Amino acid sequence: MPAPDLETLTSLAKRRGFVFPSSEIYGGFASTWDYGPLGAELIRNIKDAWWRRVVHMRPEVVGLNASILMHPRIWEVSGHIEHFADPLVECPICRRRFRLDDVPDGKCPYDGGQLTDPRMFNTMFRTFVGPVEDDASVAYLRPETAQSTYVNFKNVRDTARVQMPFGIAQIGKAFRNEITTGNFIFRSREFEQMELQYFVEPGQDDESHEDWVDARFAWWQDLGLEPRRLRLRPHSPEELAHYAKATTDIEYEFPFGWGELEGIANRTDFDLKRHAEASGTDLSYFDDAARQHVTPYVIEPAAGVDRAALAFLSDAYTVQEVAGKPRTFLNLDPRLAPFKVAVFPLARNRPPLVELATRIADDLRANWPIFYDASGSIGRRYARQDEAGTPFAVTIDFDSLDDQTVTVRERDSMRQERVASDGLRAYFADQLAW
Ligand code: ATP
Repeated sequence: MPAPDLETLTSLAKRRGFVFPSSEIYGGFASTWDYGPLGAELIRNIKDAWWRRVVHMRPEVVGLNASILMHPRIWEVSGHIEHFADPLVECPICRRRFRLDDVPDGKCPYDGGQLTDPRMFNTMFRTFVGPVEDDASVAYLRPETAQSTYVNFKNVRDTARVQMPFGIAQIGKAFRNEITTGNFIFRSREFEQMELQYFVEPGQDDESHEDWVDARFAWWQDLGLEPRRLRLRPHSPEELAHYAKATTDIEYEFPFGWGELEGIANRTDFDLKRHAEASGTDLSYFDDAARQHVTPYVIEPAAGVDRAALAFLSDAYTVQEVAGKPRTFLNLDPRLAPFKVAVFPLARNRPPLVELATRIADDLRANWPIFYDASGSIGRRYARQDEAGTPFAVTIDFDSLDDQTVTVRERDSMRQERVASDGLRAYFADQLAW
C-alpha cells in the first residue's frame, strides 16, 4: 500500500474528527492544530503505550511531570539562550523567511530571489511572569522537557530510591518558535514530547546509547509501523546539538518524505555539570567502587507525540477494492485505536434491539472506549468505523433476541463470527490484550 498524500490524510483526519485546524471559525491560526474526539484518544493511547514500555515495564525508570514555566536561569545555564537558534534567511523581493536547511540552493522557492546571508534566530518563546513586562520578569516556554528533569535530578534521586543506571521519563508540551512550520502536524510551534533521561555511569554511555536506539526502534515497529518506512540516521559531527556527543534519529517515510520521529542523544554530563556548577547543588552520585562522586552521563530518547500520530495515521491508511468499490480503513494497532469496539443495534426503532445493544455497550464500556451508533445502514456504520480505525464492531440483530448471540466483525479482514453476548468481555479481553 503506497503512503497516502498529505491532503488525503488531512481531510480524513478532519472528516472523522482526528485533527482540526485550530481557531477555525476565526479563519485558523498558522500551523496550530487541535485534536478532535478521535485524535484526543489516539494521542492518549500513544502516550500510554510509551509510558507503559518506558516507565512501567522497567523497574529502574520513574516518571516526572514538571511545570512548563521555570526559572529563566535554567535556559542560560543549559546553553539554550545562546545556542537554541536556527539560521534564518530572507528573500529581499517577497520578504519571506526560511530556515537555511530548507533552501539548499540559496534561492527563494517562490520567486527565485537571492536569499540574504543567514542570521541566527532563537526559537524559544519569551513571555513575562506577573503584571510588569520588564527584563526581570522574562520567562520562557520550555523548548524541551529535558531541563526540568535535570533540575529535579536531586529530588528524584533523594525520594525514589533509585540506583544507577536509572531513568526519569516525562511527557509534556514543548514550544518552539519555528521559522517555518508545516506538513500538517509534523512541525508546529506547540507540540508534545515523550522524553526519557537515562542516567548511566560514564564509560557505559556508548553501550547504553546503542541499547536505547535498538529498544526505541523496536517500539515503533511493535506498534505497527512498516519496517521499510523506518530507518536510523546517525548525526554527522557538524549536525550535533551543543550538548551532544552522538545522536541517532529514528526517521519515518512520511507522505512528504523522510523525517525525524525521535532522536536518541548521548548528552554526556553536560547539563548536570552545568546546573550543579551554576546552582551549587550536588547533582552527582556516589560511585562505591571508585569511592568518589561522579556526574552521570545522560542518554536521551526524545520522541514527538504529534509526529507519532502522523506516522501512525499515515501508515494505517489503507484502500482496498471490495466488490469493485474502494474501501478505506485505518488498520491501526488495536492498542492505538481510539475506540476499541463499536456497538450497533440492527434497527433503531425496535426497542428490544436497542435495549440489548445499550446493555452490551454499557457492559463493555467498563473496560474499553466504546462507540455506540444506532442510525443509518449497517454498511455505512461499518464504513465510518473502518475510517476511524475501530478494530471490532458488534451487531445486535433479531436472532440475538432469541439465541443471545451477536455478530462480531473484524475491521481488516471484515470476517464475521457469532459470539455469545455474555462471552463478549472475555472475547475482547483476549483480542485487545496489550
Ligand atoms: P527537527 O530536526 O525536525 O527540527 P529536532 O531534532 O529539533 O527536530 P528534537 O530536539 O530532537 O527535535 O526533539 C525531539 C522530538 O520532538 C523530535 O524527534 C520530534 O518528534 C519532536 N519535535 C521537535 N520539534 C517539533 C516541532 N516543531 N513540531 C512537532 N514535533 C517536534
